[in-house]
Amino acid sequence: MTTFNKPYMTGRETEYIRLAVESGKISGNGIFTKRCQAFFEERYGFRKCLLTTSCTDALEMAAILTGVGPGDEVIVPSYTFVSSALAFVRQGAKIVFCDSFRDNPNIDPVEIEKLVSSRTKVIVPVHYAGVACDMDAIMDIARRHDLLVVEDAAQAIDSFYTGKDGVRRPLGSIGHLAAFSFHETKNIISGEGGMLVVNDPRFIRRAEIIWEKGTNRAEFFRGEVNKYGWVDTGSSFLPSEIVAAFLWAQLENLDRIQARRRQIWDSYHAQLSPFAARGEFSLPDIPGYATNNAHMFYLVFPDLEKRTKFIGDMKAQDVQCVFHYLALHASAFYAGKHDGRALPNCDRFADCLVRMPLFYELDPEIVVRAISKVCS
Ligand SMILES: *Cc1c(COP(=O)(O)O)cnc(C)c1O
Repeated sequence: MTTFNKPYMTGRETEYIRLAVESGKISGNGIFTKRCQAFFEERYGFRKCLLTTSCTDALEMAAILTGVGPGDEVIVPSYTFVSSALAFVRQGAKIVFCDSFRDNPNIDPVEIEKLVSSRTKVIVPVHYAGVACDMDAIMDIARRHDLLVVEDAAQAIDSFYTGKDGVRRPLGSIGHLAAFSFHETKNIISGEGGMLVVNDPRFIRRAEIIWEKGTNRAEFFRGEVNKYGWVDTGSSFLPSEIVAAFLWAQLENLDRIQARRRQIWDSYHAQLSPFAARGEFSLPDIPGYATNNAHMFYLVFPDLEKRTKFIGDMKAQDVQCVFHYLALHASAFYAGKHDGRALPNCDRFADCLVRMPLFYELDPEIVVRAISKVCS
Protein backbone atom coordinates (compact mmCIF):
# COMPACT_ATOMS: atom_id res chain seq x y z
CA MET A 1 0.00 0.00 0.00
CA THR A 2 1.31 3.45 -0.89
CA THR A 3 0.22 5.49 2.11
CA PHE A 4 -0.75 9.16 1.93
CA ASN A 5 2.10 10.20 4.24
CA LYS A 6 5.27 8.65 5.64
CA PRO A 7 7.32 10.76 8.07
CA TYR A 8 10.86 11.19 6.76
CA MET A 9 13.80 10.88 9.16
CA THR A 10 17.07 12.50 8.12
CA GLY A 11 19.14 10.05 10.19
CA ARG A 12 20.44 12.39 12.87
CA GLU A 13 17.31 12.74 14.99
CA THR A 14 18.27 10.14 17.60
CA GLU A 15 21.86 11.41 17.74
CA TYR A 16 20.71 14.93 18.58
CA ILE A 17 18.14 13.65 21.05
CA ARG A 18 20.95 11.73 22.77
CA LEU A 19 23.03 14.91 22.90
CA ALA A 20 20.14 16.77 24.48
CA VAL A 21 19.60 14.00 27.04
CA GLU A 22 23.32 13.77 27.87
CA SER A 23 23.55 17.54 28.29
CA GLY A 24 21.37 17.14 31.36
CA LYS A 25 19.08 19.98 30.21
CA ILE A 26 15.95 18.56 28.65
CA SER A 27 13.29 21.13 29.56
CA GLY A 28 12.53 23.92 27.07
CA ASN A 29 14.43 26.95 25.80
CA GLY A 30 17.87 25.26 25.78
CA ILE A 31 20.57 25.00 23.11
CA PHE A 32 18.52 23.18 20.45
CA THR A 33 15.49 25.44 20.91
CA LYS A 34 17.67 28.53 20.52
CA ARG A 35 19.45 27.02 17.50
CA CYS A 36 16.13 26.28 15.73
CA GLN A 37 14.73 29.74 16.51
CA ALA A 38 17.91 31.47 15.29
CA PHE A 39 17.81 29.40 12.10
CA PHE A 40 14.39 30.79 11.22
CA GLU A 41 15.22 34.34 12.26
CA GLU A 42 18.38 34.38 10.13
CA ARG A 43 17.13 32.48 7.11
CA TYR A 44 13.74 34.14 6.74
CA GLY A 45 14.17 37.42 8.60
CA PHE A 46 11.36 36.61 11.06
CA ARG A 47 11.58 39.20 13.85
CA LYS A 48 11.21 36.81 16.80
CA CYS A 49 10.60 33.05 16.79
CA LEU A 50 9.38 30.91 19.68
CA LEU A 51 9.10 27.14 19.32
CA THR A 52 5.81 25.77 20.62
CA THR A 53 4.36 22.35 21.32
CA SER A 54 2.15 22.64 18.20
CA CYS A 55 0.88 25.09 15.62
CA THR A 56 -2.41 25.00 17.51
CA ASP A 57 -0.57 26.31 20.57
CA ALA A 58 1.20 28.97 18.50
CA LEU A 59 -2.22 30.09 17.24
CA GLU A 60 -3.51 30.18 20.83
CA MET A 61 -0.58 32.39 21.81
CA ALA A 62 -1.33 34.62 18.83
CA ALA A 63 -5.00 34.81 19.83
CA ILE A 64 -4.03 35.89 23.36
CA LEU A 65 -1.60 38.48 21.97
CA THR A 66 -4.23 40.05 19.70
CA GLY A 67 -6.27 40.78 22.82
CA VAL A 68 -9.57 39.59 21.31
CA GLY A 69 -12.41 38.70 23.63
CA PRO A 70 -16.20 38.48 23.81
CA GLY A 71 -17.85 40.91 21.38
CA ASP A 72 -14.93 40.84 18.95
CA GLU A 73 -15.00 39.23 15.52
CA VAL A 74 -12.26 37.32 13.74
CA ILE A 75 -12.41 36.59 10.00
CA VAL A 76 -11.22 33.05 9.18
CA PRO A 77 -11.60 30.96 6.03
CA SER A 78 -14.08 28.12 6.48
CA TYR A 79 -11.92 25.80 4.41
CA THR A 80 -9.16 25.25 6.99
CA PHE A 81 -8.14 23.15 9.94
CA VAL A 82 -10.07 23.53 13.20
CA SER A 83 -7.20 25.25 15.03
CA SER A 84 -7.26 28.38 12.81
CA ALA A 85 -10.64 29.21 14.35
CA LEU A 86 -10.51 27.36 17.68
CA ALA A 87 -7.63 29.44 19.06
CA PHE A 88 -9.80 32.57 18.84
CA VAL A 89 -12.97 30.83 20.05
CA ARG A 90 -11.07 29.96 23.26
CA GLN A 91 -10.58 33.70 23.84
CA GLY A 92 -14.34 34.25 23.51
CA ALA A 93 -14.27 35.85 20.05
CA LYS A 94 -16.90 35.25 17.38
CA ILE A 95 -15.66 33.64 14.16
CA VAL A 96 -16.95 35.12 10.91
CA PHE A 97 -16.27 32.49 8.27
CA CYS A 98 -15.13 33.67 4.87
CA ASP A 99 -15.26 31.95 1.48
CA SER A 100 -12.32 30.76 -0.65
CA PHE A 101 -11.36 31.92 -4.12
CA ARG A 102 -13.09 30.08 -6.93
CA ASP A 103 -9.81 28.73 -8.28
CA ASN A 104 -7.95 27.89 -5.07
CA PRO A 105 -8.86 27.24 -1.43
CA ASN A 106 -7.26 30.42 -0.03
CA ILE A 107 -9.38 33.16 1.52
CA ASP A 108 -10.80 35.68 -1.00
CA PRO A 109 -10.00 39.30 0.01
CA VAL A 110 -13.05 40.59 -1.89
CA GLU A 111 -15.18 38.49 0.47
CA ILE A 112 -13.16 39.62 3.52
CA GLU A 113 -13.90 43.25 2.73
CA LYS A 114 -17.66 42.55 2.79
CA LEU A 115 -17.40 40.93 6.24
CA VAL A 116 -15.46 43.65 8.06
CA SER A 117 -17.60 45.32 10.74
CA SER A 118 -16.92 47.72 13.63
CA ARG A 119 -16.33 44.61 15.80
CA THR A 120 -13.72 43.00 13.52
CA LYS A 121 -10.28 42.77 15.16
CA VAL A 122 -8.29 40.09 13.32
CA ILE A 123 -7.97 38.42 9.91
CA VAL A 124 -6.48 34.92 9.73
CA PRO A 125 -5.18 34.10 6.23
CA VAL A 126 -4.33 30.39 5.89
CA HIS A 127 -1.74 29.63 3.21
CA TYR A 128 -3.36 26.45 1.97
CA ALA A 129 -0.94 23.87 0.53
CA GLY A 130 1.86 26.35 1.30
CA VAL A 131 0.60 28.64 -1.48
CA ALA A 132 0.44 32.30 -0.49
CA CYS A 133 -2.80 34.14 0.12
CA ASP A 134 -3.17 37.51 -1.64
CA MET A 135 -1.26 39.29 1.13
CA ASP A 136 -1.13 42.79 -0.43
CA ALA A 137 -4.91 42.88 -0.55
CA ILE A 138 -5.25 41.43 2.97
CA MET A 139 -2.68 43.77 4.55
CA ASP A 140 -4.36 46.69 2.79
CA ILE A 141 -7.75 45.81 4.31
CA ALA A 142 -6.06 45.41 7.71
CA ARG A 143 -4.38 48.84 7.47
CA ARG A 144 -7.55 50.62 6.38
CA HIS A 145 -9.61 49.11 9.21
CA ASP A 146 -6.87 48.92 11.84
CA LEU A 147 -6.96 45.11 12.11
CA LEU A 148 -4.30 42.60 13.08
CA VAL A 149 -3.26 39.81 10.71
CA VAL A 150 -2.30 36.36 12.02
CA GLU A 151 -0.93 34.13 9.26
CA ASP A 152 -1.74 30.45 9.69
CA ALA A 153 1.47 29.33 7.99
CA ALA A 154 1.18 25.74 9.28
CA GLN A 155 1.82 24.37 5.78
CA ALA A 156 3.88 27.26 4.48
CA ILE A 157 7.50 26.68 5.49
CA ASP A 158 9.99 27.90 2.87
CA SER A 159 7.32 29.48 0.68
CA PHE A 160 7.16 33.07 -0.57
CA TYR A 161 4.91 35.90 -1.68
CA THR A 162 5.90 38.59 -4.17
CA GLY A 163 4.06 41.84 -3.55
CA LYS A 164 3.18 44.62 -5.97
CA ASP A 165 6.40 46.32 -4.88
CA GLY A 166 8.31 43.41 -6.45
CA VAL A 167 9.76 42.29 -3.10
CA ARG A 168 9.70 38.55 -2.41
CA ARG A 169 8.82 37.89 1.22
CA PRO A 170 8.74 34.58 3.11
CA LEU A 171 5.28 33.49 4.25
CA GLY A 172 5.08 34.03 7.99
CA SER A 173 6.96 37.34 7.75
CA ILE A 174 4.09 39.50 6.48
CA GLY A 175 1.36 39.44 9.14
CA HIS A 176 1.77 40.86 12.64
CA LEU A 177 2.00 37.29 13.91
CA ALA A 178 2.32 33.87 12.26
CA ALA A 179 2.14 30.21 13.25
CA PHE A 180 3.97 27.21 11.74
CA SER A 181 3.48 23.47 12.28
CA PHE A 182 6.01 20.66 12.54
CA HIS A 183 3.37 17.94 12.83
CA GLU A 184 4.47 14.71 11.18
CA THR A 185 2.29 15.43 8.13
CA LYS A 186 4.14 18.68 7.29
CA ASN A 187 7.36 19.20 5.24
CA ILE A 188 9.61 19.61 8.30
CA ILE A 189 8.58 17.63 11.36
CA SER A 190 9.14 16.97 15.05
CA GLY A 191 6.20 14.62 15.71
CA GLU A 192 4.07 17.30 17.29
CA GLY A 193 5.52 20.81 17.23
CA GLY A 194 5.08 24.35 16.06
CA MET A 195 6.40 27.89 16.16
CA LEU A 196 5.07 31.36 16.80
CA VAL A 197 6.56 34.16 14.71
CA VAL A 198 6.30 37.68 16.09
CA ASN A 199 6.88 40.26 13.36
CA ASP A 200 5.36 43.25 15.14
CA PRO A 201 7.87 44.24 17.85
CA ARG A 202 5.06 45.49 20.10
CA PHE A 203 4.22 41.87 20.89
CA ILE A 204 7.68 40.41 21.56
CA ARG A 205 7.95 40.95 25.29
CA ARG A 206 4.45 39.72 26.03
CA ALA A 207 4.88 36.70 23.71
CA GLU A 208 7.86 35.51 25.77
CA ILE A 209 5.85 35.87 28.97
CA ILE A 210 2.81 33.99 27.64
CA TRP A 211 5.17 31.26 26.40
CA GLU A 212 6.61 30.80 29.91
CA LYS A 213 3.40 30.33 31.95
CA GLY A 214 2.78 34.05 32.39
CA THR A 215 6.17 34.65 34.03
CA ASN A 216 9.03 36.92 33.03
CA ARG A 217 11.51 34.04 33.27
CA ALA A 218 13.07 34.74 29.84
CA GLU A 219 14.04 38.25 30.97
CA PHE A 220 15.41 36.83 34.22
CA PHE A 221 17.63 34.33 32.37
CA ARG A 222 18.97 37.16 30.21
CA GLY A 223 19.81 39.07 33.38
CA GLU A 224 17.39 41.90 32.58
CA VAL A 225 15.50 41.54 35.89
CA ASN A 226 16.82 40.18 39.19
CA LYS A 227 13.82 38.03 40.05
CA TYR A 228 10.99 36.54 38.09
CA GLY A 229 7.35 36.04 38.91
CA TRP A 230 3.80 35.86 37.67
CA VAL A 231 3.09 38.92 35.53
CA ASP A 232 0.44 37.93 32.94
CA THR A 233 -1.71 35.13 31.54
CA GLY A 234 -0.04 32.30 29.63
CA SER A 235 0.57 28.59 29.59
CA SER A 236 3.37 26.07 29.12
CA PHE A 237 3.67 26.59 25.37
CA LEU A 238 7.35 25.67 24.96
CA PRO A 239 8.47 22.20 23.84
CA SER A 240 11.18 20.18 25.57
CA GLU A 241 14.74 20.11 24.22
CA ILE A 242 14.09 16.54 23.05
CA VAL A 243 11.57 17.84 20.52
CA ALA A 244 13.84 20.73 19.51
CA ALA A 245 16.76 18.32 19.00
CA PHE A 246 14.63 16.26 16.61
CA LEU A 247 13.58 19.43 14.79
CA TRP A 248 17.20 20.56 14.39
CA ALA A 249 18.06 17.33 12.56
CA GLN A 250 15.28 18.19 10.12
CA LEU A 251 16.18 21.85 9.68
CA GLU A 252 19.77 20.98 8.82
CA ASN A 253 18.32 19.12 5.84
CA LEU A 254 15.65 21.62 4.84
CA ASP A 255 17.05 22.28 1.36
CA ARG A 256 17.45 18.60 0.56
CA ILE A 257 13.94 17.78 1.80
CA GLN A 258 12.43 20.67 -0.13
CA ALA A 259 14.29 19.80 -3.33
CA ARG A 260 13.02 16.21 -3.25
CA ARG A 261 9.44 17.24 -2.49
CA ARG A 262 9.52 19.75 -5.37
CA GLN A 263 10.81 17.05 -7.70
CA ILE A 264 7.86 14.81 -6.80
CA TRP A 265 5.43 17.73 -7.15
CA ASP A 266 6.82 18.67 -10.59
CA SER A 267 6.65 15.06 -11.71
CA TYR A 268 2.97 14.88 -10.68
CA HIS A 269 2.24 18.17 -12.40
CA ALA A 270 3.89 17.21 -15.70
CA GLN A 271 2.35 13.75 -15.87
CA LEU A 272 -1.15 14.67 -14.72
CA SER A 273 -1.55 17.72 -16.97
CA PRO A 274 -2.95 15.64 -19.90
CA PHE A 275 -5.69 14.28 -17.60
CA ALA A 276 -6.50 17.80 -16.45
CA ALA A 277 -6.60 18.96 -20.10
CA ARG A 278 -9.24 16.25 -20.74
CA GLY A 279 -11.32 17.59 -17.87
CA GLU A 280 -10.95 14.61 -15.50
CA PHE A 281 -9.93 16.95 -12.67
CA SER A 282 -8.11 20.25 -12.19
CA LEU A 283 -4.59 20.74 -10.85
CA PRO A 284 -3.38 23.07 -8.06
CA ASP A 285 -3.59 26.77 -8.88
CA ILE A 286 -0.43 28.74 -8.03
CA PRO A 287 -1.07 32.49 -8.52
CA GLY A 288 1.76 34.56 -10.01
CA TYR A 289 2.53 36.15 -6.63
CA ALA A 290 3.04 32.78 -4.91
CA THR A 291 5.73 30.11 -4.87
CA ASN A 292 5.16 26.41 -4.41
CA ASN A 293 6.81 24.74 -1.39
CA ALA A 294 5.55 21.30 -2.44
CA HIS A 295 3.63 20.78 0.76
CA MET A 296 0.73 19.19 -1.05
CA PHE A 297 -0.40 17.97 -4.44
CA TYR A 298 -4.16 18.01 -4.77
CA LEU A 299 -6.72 17.38 -7.50
CA VAL A 300 -10.16 18.95 -7.71
CA PHE A 301 -12.87 16.74 -9.21
CA PRO A 302 -16.04 18.03 -10.89
CA ASP A 303 -18.28 16.67 -8.10
CA LEU A 304 -18.41 14.65 -4.88
CA GLU A 305 -19.48 11.46 -6.62
CA LYS A 306 -16.49 11.49 -8.98
CA ARG A 307 -14.13 12.19 -6.10
CA THR A 308 -15.55 9.38 -3.99
CA LYS A 309 -15.21 6.95 -6.89
CA PHE A 310 -11.61 8.10 -7.53
CA ILE A 311 -10.58 7.54 -3.89
CA GLY A 312 -12.15 4.05 -3.96
CA ASP A 313 -10.59 3.14 -7.31
CA MET A 314 -7.15 4.33 -6.14
CA LYS A 315 -7.50 2.27 -2.98
CA ALA A 316 -8.20 -0.76 -5.18
CA GLN A 317 -4.86 0.07 -6.89
CA ASP A 318 -3.22 0.12 -3.43
CA VAL A 319 -2.76 3.90 -3.29
CA GLN A 320 -4.18 5.92 -0.40
CA CYS A 321 -5.59 9.30 -1.50
CA VAL A 322 -7.47 11.41 1.03
CA PHE A 323 -9.94 14.26 0.98
CA HIS A 324 -9.32 17.25 3.23
CA TYR A 325 -11.24 19.76 5.31
CA LEU A 326 -14.91 19.59 6.09
CA ALA A 327 -16.26 23.16 6.02
CA LEU A 328 -15.94 24.65 9.51
CA HIS A 329 -19.07 26.81 9.10
CA ALA A 330 -21.05 23.57 8.74
CA SER A 331 -19.28 21.72 11.60
CA ALA A 332 -21.14 20.20 14.54
CA PHE A 333 -19.49 22.76 16.83
CA TYR A 334 -20.07 25.92 14.80
CA ALA A 335 -23.05 25.40 12.45
CA GLY A 336 -25.46 26.77 15.09
CA LYS A 337 -23.32 29.87 15.61
CA HIS A 338 -22.74 30.58 11.89
CA ASP A 339 -24.87 33.36 10.43
CA GLY A 340 -26.23 31.19 7.64
CA ARG A 341 -24.32 32.75 4.73
CA ALA A 342 -23.57 30.27 1.93
CA LEU A 343 -19.87 29.69 1.21
CA PRO A 344 -20.07 27.89 -2.15
CA ASN A 345 -16.37 27.77 -3.01
CA CYS A 346 -15.50 26.34 0.39
CA ASP A 347 -18.26 23.73 0.00
CA ARG A 348 -16.92 22.75 -3.42
CA PHE A 349 -13.37 22.21 -2.13
CA ALA A 350 -14.75 20.24 0.83
CA ASP A 351 -16.63 17.98 -1.63
CA CYS A 352 -14.26 17.77 -4.57
CA LEU A 353 -10.61 18.13 -3.46
CA VAL A 354 -8.40 15.08 -2.98
CA ARG A 355 -4.75 14.95 -1.86
CA MET A 356 -2.17 12.68 -3.49
CA PRO A 357 0.55 10.88 -1.48
CA LEU A 358 3.54 13.22 -1.12
CA PHE A 359 6.56 12.41 1.04
CA TYR A 360 10.33 12.29 0.66
CA GLU A 361 10.65 8.57 -0.06
CA LEU A 362 7.67 8.34 -2.42
CA ASP A 363 8.07 7.08 -5.97
CA PRO A 364 5.47 9.24 -7.76
CA GLU A 365 5.51 6.86 -10.77
CA ILE A 366 3.55 4.32 -8.70
CA VAL A 367 0.80 6.87 -8.11
CA VAL A 368 0.81 8.14 -11.70
CA ARG A 369 0.51 4.55 -13.03
CA ALA A 370 -2.47 3.97 -10.73
CA ILE A 371 -4.12 7.20 -11.93
CA SER A 372 -3.56 6.16 -15.55
CA LYS A 373 -5.50 2.94 -14.89
CA VAL A 374 -8.25 4.60 -12.87
CA CYS A 375 -8.78 7.49 -15.30
CA SER A 376 -8.29 5.60 -18.57
C1 LIG B 1 -1.53 21.24 10.51
C2 LIG B 1 -2.31 22.49 10.59
C3 LIG B 1 -2.62 23.11 11.81
C4 LIG B 1 -2.35 22.48 13.13
O1 LIG B 1 -1.03 22.18 13.37
P1 LIG B 1 -0.63 21.36 14.68
O2 LIG B 1 0.86 21.54 14.75
O3 LIG B 1 -1.04 19.95 14.45
O4 LIG B 1 -1.32 21.98 15.84
C5 LIG B 1 -3.25 24.35 11.80
N1 LIG B 1 -3.61 24.94 10.65
C6 LIG B 1 -3.35 24.37 9.45
C7 LIG B 1 -3.74 25.10 8.20
C8 LIG B 1 -2.71 23.12 9.38
O5 LIG B 1 -2.48 22.57 8.19
